[in-house]
Amino acid sequence: MIKKIYKFGGASVKDAEAVRNLKNIVAQHKDEDIFLVVSAMGKTTNMLEKVLKDFREHHGELGIEALTEVMEYHEKIILDLFDQNHEHPVIESVSSLFIELWEKLQQTDLPYDYQYDQTVSYGELISTTIIQEYLNHCDVPCRWLDARKYVLTDDRFRAASPDWDETRLRITKLNDEHIHGIVCITQGFIGATVDGKHTVTLGREGSDYTAAIFANCLDAEEVTIWKDVDGLLNADPKRFDDTVQLPHITYSEAIELAFYGASIIHPKTIKPLQNKGITLKVQSFLHPDHEPSVIDGKTDRNIEKVPSYIVKDNQTLVSISPRDYSFMNEHNLRLIFAACDELNIHANVIQTSALMLSFCFDHDDQKLKGLAGALRETFQVKYNKGLTLFTIRHYDNAYTIGDHFLEGKKVYLKQSSRSTLQFVIN
Ligand code: ASP
Ligand code: MG
Repeated sequence: MIKKIYKFGGASVKDAEAVRNLKNIVAQHKDEDIFLVVSAMGKTTNMLEKVLKDFREHHGELGIEALTEVMEYHEKIILDLFDQNHEHPVIESVSSLFIELWEKLQQTDLPYDYQYDQTVSYGELISTTIIQEYLNHCDVPCRWLDARKYVLTDDRFRAASPDWDETRLRITKLNDEHIHGIVCITQGFIGATVDGKHTVTLGREGSDYTAAIFANCLDAEEVTIWKDVDGLLNADPKRFDDTVQLPHITYSEAIELAFYGASIIHPKTIKPLQNKGITLKVQSFLHPDHEPSVIDGKTDRNIEKVPSYIVKDNQTLVSISPRDYSFMNEHNLRLIFAACDELNIHANVIQTSALMLSFCFDHDDQKLKGLAGALRETFQVKYNKGLTLFTIRHYDNAYTIGDHFLEGKKVYLKQSSRSTLQFVIN
C-alpha cells in the first residue's frame, strides 16, 4: 500500500541543486511507500504561458525565442544532473517532448483554453521525466506514471474537475501494483478528459490538488507539501516581519486561509483530505529537520487564535446595480451569479446593499469582458482593477500589523465577520 504522498512544487525543483536536494529527501524516505507528485520546474508554467501567448499573437519569431529559453533552461539542469553527458538517454526523451510541444503550439486556430492545456502541461511532463531518470541514476528506483491515465476529468479546460468514479477506479489499482521500495512519480496539475483524448489542467497551482486526489483515492495516511518556508506561517514573510509558524491548524481553518489567498495551499486541496481524515503536512525542503506544520481534523483552541494576515493582489472589484432601480434581490442575485458561474468567475469577497452588489475576483480580462457583456442589458457594471484583498483571520488581537499594512491605502470595501476582517484596498 502507498502510505505517503510527497508533493514537490516548482521552487523545489527549480535547478539542479534543488533536484539533488529532492533526491536526498526521497532517498531518505524511499522505504516508507511514498508517491511523488511534482510540478513544472521553477517558473516554467509562466514561461510556457508566455510562449503560447507569443505563438498566438505574433506567430513565428517571438514564440520561438521564448520556447528556446524554456529548452535551454531545462538543458542546463539536465547536463548539470547527468555530469555534462550529452549522450544521456534523458536528452532524447526530453527532446521528443519538446517536439510534441512544438507541434501543439502550431495549432493556434484552436480555442485558447484548449490549446493552453495541450501545451502548458508539458512543463510537468518534462520535469517528471528528468526527475525520474535522475532518481534511477542515483539508485533510487522510480517508476514514471502519466497523470493523464489516472486523473480523469470533465472538459472544462484550464479548470477541469475530476470525475471521481473514473479517477478512483484507475488510481486504486496503483495500490495493488505497488512494490515496496519503488517510488512512483507523477505530474501535478494535469489530467485528461474521461475519454482519454485531451489533456486538461486543474487550474494554476493545481499540483497540491493532484496530491490530494491521489491521497484520497489511495487511502494514504498523509500528504506532505515540501515548501521553501518553515511550514505554514501566519503571513507571507516576504511582506511581513515577525511571522510565526502555525504548528497545527484544522482543515476548516486551512480552507479559510487558502480561500482568502494564502498561497501556501491550493484551496481545493483540503476537502479530499478531510473526507478521508488524511493528515496534511507542510514542511521545508530547505530545512527538512524543522518540525512541519500539521493540518488535520483535531481542534486545538489555543493555537487557532493566532492572527493570520493574507494578501491577495491583482483583484478586480466590480459593482453591479440594476438599471431599473429594482432592489438587489434574489432574482437579480441569481442572474448575476449564474453569469459568474458560466464564466468561471470566483468571488473572493461579496457585499450587497439595496441597489448594489460588489465583489472582487482574481483579475482576468476575458472574464471581466464576458461578465460586462452578459449583464449589460439589465445592469450597470462598474469596476476597479489592480486592487488588493487584505484579510485578517482572528483579528481581535491583530490590529497593529493590520494598521501598519493599511497605512496610506485607500479602502474600497470593508467587511467583518466574527473571526475575519477584510479590506479591498489600493
Ligand atoms: N506548474 C503549475 C503552476 O505553476 C502547477 C503547480 O505548480 O502547482 O501553476
Ligand atoms: Mg508552480
